[in-house]
Amino acid sequence: MSVPGHVKHDAGNILKSVFGYTSFRDNQEDVITAIMSGKDVFAAMPTGGGKSLCYQIPGLLFDGLTVIISPLIALMKDQVDDAIAKGIPAAFLNSTLTKEEISGVYALLHENHIKLLYLSPERLALQGYIEKLKRFNVAFFAIDEAHCLSEWGHDFRPDYLFLSNIRDQFPDVPMAAFTATATQKVQDDIIRILNLRKPFTVRASFDRKELQYQVRPKTAVLSQISAFIKNHPGESGIVYRISRKDVEKTAAHLQTRGIKALHYHAGLTKGERSKNQELFNNDEADVIVATTAFGMGIHKNNIRYVVHGDLPKSMEGYYQETGRAGRDGLDSVCVMFFGPGDIARQQYFIDQIEDPREQAKCKNNLHSLVRFSTVNVCRRKYILEYFGQTHDGHCGNCDVCNDTTEKVEATVDARKVLSAIARTSEGFGINHIIDIVWGADTEKIRSRNHHELKTFGIGNDKSKKWWRGIINELIGQQAVYQDSDRYNVLCMTEHGRDILYGKMDFFISETASVKEPDSPSVKDTVDKGGCSDKILFKLLKEKRTQIAHENRVPPYIIFSDKTLKDMSLLKPENAEEFLGVSGVGEKKLEVYGPLFLPLIKAHLESGPS
Ligand code: ADP
Ligand code: ZN
Repeated sequence: MSVPGHVKHDAGNILKSVFGYTSFRDNQEDVITAIMSGKDVFAAMPTGGGKSLCYQIPGLLFDGLTVIISPLIALMKDQVDDAIAKGIPAAFLNSTLTKEEISGVYALLHENHIKLLYLSPERLALQGYIEKLKRFNVAFFAIDEAHCLSEWGHDFRPDYLFLSNIRDQFPDVPMAAFTATATQKVQDDIIRILNLRKPFTVRASFDRKELQYQVRPKTAVLSQISAFIKNHPGESGIVYRISRKDVEKTAAHLQTRGIKALHYHAGLTKGERSKNQELFNNDEADVIVATTAFGMGIHKNNIRYVVHGDLPKSMEGYYQETGRAGRDGLDSVCVMFFGPGDIARQQYFIDQIEDPREQAKCKNNLHSLVRFSTVNVCRRKYILEYFGQTHDGHCGNCDVCNDTTEKVEATVDARKVLSAIARTSEGFGINHIIDIVWGADTEKIRSRNHHELKTFGIGNDKSKKWWRGIINELIGQQAVYQDSDRYNVLCMTEHGRDILYGKMDFFISETASVKEPDSPSVKDTVDKGGCSDKILFKLLKEKRTQIAHENRVPPYIIFSDKTLKDMSLLKPENAEEFLGVSGVGEKKLEVYGPLFLPLIKAHLESGPS
């Protein structure tokens, strides 16, 4: 099957008239073209990469019905509200609807009044349900969050396995699977279980350029977190903490500082959780402090920062959690506070794990994160390489590249310590190694002839305290470790050997100078490009909140922050100019133009701002 030229043309028209965007993002057009030519598709694209549009546009172009499988019931209503706000005839079916509402949806389906139907996997798994779908002219299946199919993914959902039946029942209908999980194992599982036929495969870059990564030394974490948030007034953010207790403590601390913060963890009742999530979603709370229980299905697109108060459990988790910031494409900050205490704490939990495979996996995960946090390498490069992509190491948008954390080279001193460890066959603890390097005259040194070692006393120009600091850093950066099975003697890791043999340099962070770097915020981002009008932006936001309240939808479904920013920059005065704002399509012009245009006009008439 080939795609007639007009399809591309039509897809471009829909992009403008329905979504209000002028150009496709990476991969979107290719995916749409493949689907329209009847091919199956596998697409791994990062959060915020624009996956929805890849199935919504074909949904509008196909004659029949597009069925979208989406795992989160809570999310479906938002997705459908969002589609309807753009003028797309959409509906959902899941267990939250009443019998009457369900019959209403079926009536619309029978009359071919629905283009996009969102279904939960549970519903599809009901006896005879797939067969029932045959009554409608199904043109295309889209599987969102397809990694839920794979046990290798982080959100495995047994119900998803039922999707393997779609292919048998609809052998000729194209199917596209979307996920933000990048690993090959997950991809293989998805293609195998759904039985995708020679799918057109996209693995987008996982670089989230709009996210700034920072790791900072953890000193007094609560006040560090509140100081950071105070620097981002009125912006939305998530704070992740590892335990429920820390979540509660942090939320309470922020509240005493006058910050509108709520908490979220698996210990709350379902009602409390959804209430807090909704208040956050509706911009009625600025901050949500949460364990990793909070996450999947957060479609709020104006999250400006994600703070990790503790070391996350894996790089995958870190990437997913930070990925919730900046979905609207505006600059956002991801900051992690990290200290050696985090390692000890996680190590303690890992030691309790009984299954040796699981334990080894967690150890590896911890190792990757500690390296990420301590090695003096561009954070983005580290993340992308972890996911199998390359990067030149100069992103210019992380603390290492921007050098906001003070680093001091200490390669020579590190080698002195490492060589003392090597020459004593990795058989001694911290104090003795310091004594050798510093040149102490102790009984233990004499009895072992360690004063005859080449390294003896090579560090006597510096204090013992200095050498202890170097050793602590070497441990923190996992160049050496204390072997708890052998009286905590110091042993070298591969990384340590690389430093000793000159393959790698060693840097220590100057923890004393903890400063709050300037982080970009929405205002800077847009101000760079032109003159956005802050007062107007505020007015537009208030208008949006009011409309959202009246219509009982989250504000971002009306317009994203990005759209309002663009509006405050362009200051449209008529319908045509209003359509020129990014994110305004024809439906939104019709519904919201009459509400926003007079506001802009009044503001312009009130004089220069
Ligand atoms: P994903 O599902 O991949 O996480 P979404 O589909 O929610 O991402 O898209 C993220 C944001 O980017 C949405 O606000 C969406 O409207 C916007 N977006 C998608 N495609 C484009 C585009 N071509 N131009 C501008 N914005 C886009
Ligand atoms: Zn960088």
